[in-house]
Amino acid sequence: MTDPHPHHQCIEMFAKLSEYLDQELDDISCHEIEKHAQNCQACEVCLATLRRTIELCKQMEPTPPIPSSVSHRLKQMIAKIGHPSFNAKSSLHF
Ligand SMILES: [Zn+2]
Repeated sequence: MTDPHPHHQCIEMFAKLSEYLDQELDDISCHEIEKHAQNCQACEVCLATLRRTIELCKQMEPTPPIPSSVSHRLKQMIAKIGHPSFNAKSSLHF
């Protein structure tokens, strides 16, 4: 599998992702994340999945924190993304 995508960017991105989803990030960082996700299928899928998860949480509680199980799975995803045999289609699902 040849993937020229610099996955270290993914990991940097994920470090900011919870702030991004809480809308606590500045505009520049938000743009970086959105731009990256447009070019990275793995991150696009992660972002979409997280957004959906958070939307579901918001329907249940007025101001929910991101569940710890989500950040735990996120860490597992990051580990997968960094792995040479990473495959976005089969590896990323909650
Ligand atoms: Zn990425």
